[in-house]
Amino acid sequence: MVENVFKHLSLLAFDVMRLTVWLVLLVAIFVPLERLFTLRPARIWRAQTGVDLCWYFLNSLLPAVIIALPLSLLAGVLHGADPGGFYSSVARLPFWIKVLLMLAVNDLGAYWYHRASHAHPVLWRFHAIHHSAEHIDWLVNTRAHPVDLVFTRLSGLVPVYLLGLAQVTGGRLDPGVAVITIFGTIWTFFIHANIRWRLGPVEWLISSPAFHHWHHTNDEHRDRNFASVFPVIDRIFGTAWLPRHWPTVYGIDAKVPPTLGGQLTEPLGMSRGKEDKRE
Ligand SMILES: [Zn+2]
Ligand SMILES: [Zn+2]
Repeated sequence: MVENVFKHLSLLAFDVMRLTVWLVLLVAIFVPLERLFTLRPARIWRAQTGVDLCWYFLNSLLPAVIIALPLSLLAGVLHGADPGGFYSSVARLPFWIKVLLMLAVNDLGAYWYHRASHAHPVLWRFHAIHHSAEHIDWLVNTRAHPVDLVFTRLSGLVPVYLLGLAQVTGGRLDPGVAVITIFGTIWTFFIHANIRWRLGPVEWLISSPAFHHWHHTNDEHRDRNFASVFPVIDRIFGTAWLPRHWPTVYGIDAKVPPTLGGQLTEPLGMSRGKEDKRE
């Protein structure tokens, strides 16, 4: 019993150290970029930076633990299945083709959950935490309710596993899923960054800061640009918006609690904030 507690505490300490190293790397990349190519003047340590750093550690640990259970249940259901030899054929695809397909399928699944979370009041209560930021920078990427993150990730990963693009083997993470998770994490930090880069026609192939900053606008163009990586998904489904200029106002109408505890509990109905006009 005591040994088990000690083992779990050691693993947690190792995870916190690993995440601290990642954080130092992210700071080393994005702080200089935001100083050199500033979109809007901002202080490095702004209001909510401390809360966002807490979200960084919490959201890097908790959602992964929660989604492991439904994904391993799904793996159990799919174990040994090979309808019409489909899974065998998919398994034989070259690794990088599978990774590209995983990225596309994951982004498409997450697109629909993200779009639903803007449309349905209950889901919006959780997703609104992410949209509460009135100044957008790389660290705002971490501000999200764990419930919102768990459902977003499951909506992307369940189709990836159902299509046989990834397998759960011996409790180990599929290498392709590891690649898309690392790429997706770095890319979503980038598209939140307070940098004025425009990528020209490439912005229609892969998401950019301008593309995602428009997702955070709080004017008549809100509820657009739901895809994380591939803007073509928004183009196909009529939700893309990417003019040459940048949005001027970010955030939501509702007041979200300023503390980590408040943001964690408010969507659960434990301390309701002012109603947002989506509800
Ligand atoms: Zn959103
Ligand atoms: Zn965002």
